[in-house]
Amino acid sequence: MERTLTIIKPDAVAAGHIGDIIKIFESNQLTIKAARLVSLTKKEAEGFYAVHRGKGFFDSLTSFMSSGPALPMVLEGDDAIARLRKLMGATNPANAEEGTIRKLYAQDIEHNAVHGSDATETAAFEIAYFFPGIDLA
Ligand code: ATP
Ligand code: MG
Repeated sequence: MERTLTIIKPDAVAAGHIGDIIKIFESNQLTIKAARLVSLTKKEAEGFYAVHRGKGFFDSLTSFMSSGPALPMVLEGDDAIARLRKLMGATNPANAEEGTIRKLYAQDIEHNAVHGSDATETAAFEIAYFFPGIDLA
């Protein structure tokens, strides 16, 4: 069993896709262990995406991520990190495979519906970022 962090991003929350996306997680044996609807401040979004500081899209990305409610969740399952990334599809929905969450619900490379941790270490950091000291279900 492995844990990963996903975020249903502000674009997908605003478009009413929380249920559609959770349905995909649940039908793929990814169990929700924690969930929290948050309205991130710009500073909190910058802290979460600190690895991207200095990149051309950093300011725009962190403004977007703090533009409205988002839903971080801890998901658990076999090979959860890699399987979530596969279910999400490519960062740019134009390159995402049919049936992936980003192909279905993302607008563009920035407003791309979901986040998923990309490795064990980033999953640990990201889970602690949103769920510090919480006993997961
Ligand atoms: P995430 O980290 O959100 O799961 P990812 O790992 O597929 O997505 P990253 O390269 O880590 O992609 O980029 C983080 C986020 O920054 C992307 O999901 C997207 O919202 C935004 N982003 C990435 N590249 C660009 C870009 N070239 N222009 C605008 N926004 C971008
Ligand atoms: Mg990433």
